[in-house]
Amino acid sequence: MAPKMHVKAGDKVKVIAGKDKGKEGKILSVVTSSGRVIVEGVSVAKRHQRPTQQMPQGGIIEKEAAIAGSNVMLVCPACGAATRVGHKILDNGTKVRVCKKCNEVVDK
Ligand SMILES: [Zn+2]
Repeated sequence: MAPKMHVKAGDKVKVIAGKDKGKEGKILSVVTSSGRVIVEGVSVAKRHQRPTQQMPQGGIIEKEAAIAGSNVMLVCPACGAATRVGHKILDNGTKVRVCKKCNEVVDK
């Protein structure tokens, strides 16, 4: 079963482990099947692109590689801290994520 992710696309996160430790960026996409995330500007790999019809010159393109979701923490939009994520059920039944530091709802 795919691991439950604490972050989702569009979240701002901080890398807490690995070679990009300390970097912050926005999540571009989440690979739920492997529990990995792709974060803007983090784990960027240069790739040599063969010439194609769209890019006749070929060249080097930079592309973010997926990193383990457990290596990132959510940066709370309310208090700005890298935080663990809690959950809360709203009166209308919607499940939302909350910041464990300031208790603000992260999902709007
Ligand atoms: Zn907070």
